[in-house]
Amino acid sequence: AGAKYDYDLVIIGCGVGGHGAALHAVEQGMKVAVIEGHDIGGTCVNRGCVPSKALLAASGRIRDMKNEMHMKSMGIQVGSVSFDRAGVAAHATQLASAIQGNLKRSLEALGVDILIGQAKFVDNHTIKYGLPGRVDVGGQVTAKDVIIATGSVPFVPPGIPIDGKTVFTSDHALKLEWLPNWVAIIGSGYIGLEFSDVYTALGCEVTFIEAMDKIMPGFDTEIARMAERLLIKGRPIDYHTGVIATKVTPGVPGVKPVEIELTDFKTKKVVDTLEVDACMVATGRAPYTNGLNLGSIGVETDRRGFVPVSEKMEVLGSDGKVVPNVYCIGDANGKYMLAHAASAQGISAVENMLGRPNVLNHLSIPAACFTHPEVSFVGVTQEKAEEMAKEQGFPLGVAKTSFKANSKALAEKEGEGMAKMLYRKDTGEILGVHIIGLHAADLIHEASNAIATKQTVQDIKFAVHAHPTLSEVLDELIKSAHVNPPSSS
Ligand code: FAD
Repeated sequence: AGAKYDYDLVIIGCGVGGHGAALHAVEQGMKVAVIEGHDIGGTCVNRGCVPSKALLAASGRIRDMKNEMHMKSMGIQVGSVSFDRAGVAAHATQLASAIQGNLKRSLEALGVDILIGQAKFVDNHTIKYGLPGRVDVGGQVTAKDVIIATGSVPFVPPGIPIDGKTVFTSDHALKLEWLPNWVAIIGSGYIGLEFSDVYTALGCEVTFIEAMDKIMPGFDTEIARMAERLLIKGRPIDYHTGVIATKVTPGVPGVKPVEIELTDFKTKKVVDTLEVDACMVATGRAPYTNGLNLGSIGVETDRRGFVPVSEKMEVLGSDGKVVPNVYCIGDANGKYMLAHAASAQGISAVENMLGRPNVLNHLSIPAACFTHPEVSFVGVTQEKAEEMAKEQGFPLGVAKTSFKANSKALAEKEGEGMAKMLYRKDTGEILGVHIIGLHAADLIHEASNAIATKQTVQDIKFAVHAHPTLSEVLDELIKSAHVNPPSSS
């Protein structure tokens, strides 16, 4: 750093976004500090992706052994299956702390200073940090550039008191402190769905409460319909759509049920009351920007609390202009609330502060739901692609293939699944790919790389895939797309 500042870059919040930005900045020769008020690794490592995938790994194996994955038809018999709740929970917490340790060591090894405390702005280049509520008597650092990477916390709608025992969010559910017989999950997005997979494998019944008129409202409709068949029907799961939980009264585990008042989303009339053992609130995430003193740098969060940013991740002031030297990445800006998006935005922000203009194509960022089987997608849904085709007047191609046509999937007895691609028939541009089936979360990357590098259907049509692999699902999908370039007259 020049003599003027303590650091080239200070990053507030060391979740995956802050961590990714720090490593990239150090590799570019910058002097970097991160300020973290809670746990290195943030939500993803401690309360999100990592522990939830550990629980799903356990629930997947239980499903296997309970023969949901067709072991019997491969000639394998398994005796009765049992598990120990505390052991499953320990797998998740141990994994989280091991990965937290890896992240911390990687920062230390590269010479990133880790400062502990809640941080707040004094001005664009000056940050105070210290114990919550006592930041003003803590330390102070200066930096040429600052990144806000403070992430998010569970969003809890009004009227729902969280007691952490019978009414809880993913923060509590991941600890798996007890196993209710019957859990209502409010919200059928990816977090709710992943937990329904864990809970039902561990022997619980699940009821979804979804405000929209279909479950998995953010997903492509056809894929959501198949997900309903593969992930809900045949499991002890039911759902109420078009209703919201307007009042939740906590219970006492094993003694008094939780009461949930259901109100029709459209008519606003109370339609039902559910009595369940526990209620998980999975209604999305709210940005965490409390206490940052954003007013001191002329910034106002939007209606939902997100920090407004430009496409280069520069923070925008209340006048709509770029606030010099301040960037915001990850869940706190609400652009794409996933771990890999946060770190990609971190790298992009660092590139931009170094004067190398970088704009991330968010439509090339894949998303996945790690249920059994998995669901993944990149780009737009079919509904959106149809809308675009109509507005822009291009012919839309929809290619589809089934896992039933894939030898590897059949060998694994996993023929249930499909992949679908939305593309422009005139140019071959890939607009979106959606997969449900075995290892869908890994398979999506061929499509997201193609979109990121602007490869068309024709560019990748002749790529050769090893046989027999699941990657041939994508091969088959791409080969079944037909591009008709406009005839040159
Ligand atoms: P965070 O990871 O939230 O980190 C922000 C950090 O900033 C925190 O450590 C916080 O303590 C710190 N902080 C906040 N304010 C201050 C302050 N004033 N001073 C100092 N420090 C501060 N995403 C995926 O991509 N894949 C998944 O499979 C996946 N699964 C998930 C499962 C669950 C149950 C949940 C809840 C989330 C999941 N996510 C997943 C989402 C993912 O966790 C987030 O998108 C990601 O963590 C966002 O990273 P971030 O760096 O923006 O923020």
